[in-house]
Amino acid sequence: MGDGDGDASNGPDDRTYAGRSLSAAYDLVGNEVRAAILLALSRTHGGQGEPPVVPFSDLRSRVDVETDSSQFNYHLQRLVGTFVEDRSAGDAQLVDGFVDTEPDGYALRPEGSLFTRSLRASIAGETTTPSGVASPLSCHYCDATVELTYRNAIFALQCPDCEFLYEYDLVPPGILHGPDDHSEGVGRGSAVVDDGADDEHPRRREPLRTAPRRTETAVGEDATPSGEDDAHPDATGAATADGVDPRAVYERAATYLRERRRSFAGGVCPTCGGGTTTATVDAADSAYPRTDRRELFVNRSCVHCGDRNYLRLGELLQRQSAVVAFCHETGLELDDTPPWELAWLVTDTGVTVDDGEPWRAHLAIERDGDRLVVAVDDAGDVVETRRS
Ligand SMILES: [Zn+2]
Ligand SMILES: [Zn+2]
Repeated sequence: MGDGDGDASNGPDDRTYAGRSLSAAYDLVGNEVRAAILLALSRTHGGQGEPPVVPFSDLRSRVDVETDSSQFNYHLQRLVGTFVEDRSAGDAQLVDGFVDTEPDGYALRPEGSLFTRSLRASIAGETTTPSGVASPLSCHYCDATVELTYRNAIFALQCPDCEFLYEYDLVPPGILHGPDDHSEGVGRGSAVVDDGADDEHPRRREPLRTAPRRTETAVGEDATPSGEDDAHPDATGAATADGVDPRAVYERAATYLRERRRSFAGGVCPTCGGGTTTATVDAADSAYPRTDRRELFVNRSCVHCGDRNYLRLGELLQRQSAVVAFCHETGLELDDTPPWELAWLVTDTGVTVDDGEPWRAHLAIERDGDRLVVAVDDAGDVVETRRS
């Protein structure tokens, strides 16, 4: 689970790659014409093909802001060297001849790409977002249908009966958008509903609560096995009026969060690529509800950009080779299973903490009579694996 950005750690002396202070970089884009130039260059990428180079006159025609040519050029030149590359200067690419179809023109520099992608990732559109709708997930504790809500860039999954919070994390509104929505068009009635009928992805035809959920045995007295029903009638992906499909949102959030947390689990910030620090946090000291059903979180924080995440022990260990091998050998493909459908990953029913010296936490995973126990130390490093 996560809670967005942590404290800003960058000081006034920190510089962007192009040598600007962060405040100067912010100031640079705080102008209507310059912001429009950056977005126009970003949109010319279109997400496909090589980054285009836009001649001056073309670029000016793409920027829908009233300004004369000299003023436009003034603002454009202020961006050159930081967010924008003047291809005639040829200083931004590492390899000669890479993207040289239009030698005279302008393109985003890498910093400009990172900046504009970040902004465009926050585009929501005028979309009715899911709120308290039935998800494909059955509660591991009480078997009720877990509810899905997406609002204010927070994706949440919570059981309405026992109130266990399965998910609460910052996820950009891109998860509302299918690949053919062109992201910024969502809300204008153009969204494509993934109804599972794509022949290239036959597994999507199946209910999302899949076989691994049924064969898994959660460890611990709270782990009451659920019934055998596979899907809730309300969770079959009925789209909202403007085309947002809760099931598709659920699947995209599953993939997005899985990959982010794998990166954190590997000690690398998924936002900036920086290394992360580790701290184990007693659940009782965390801000999360239902700590009676929590043992601990492993906090991974990035000092470089401030991103951070609170990992459950299963999330920390899911990329370990012993866990990957155990899951594969017992018929569970982690990449195909939304993490919330695995009790050992999403709850602490398989977690025990040994507060002695040295401190240890153990995760037990049981599947069809096979058992794997992985122990970690307070740095989150694996110190023992046992299989029986
Ligand atoms: Zn419940
Ligand atoms: Zn970072």
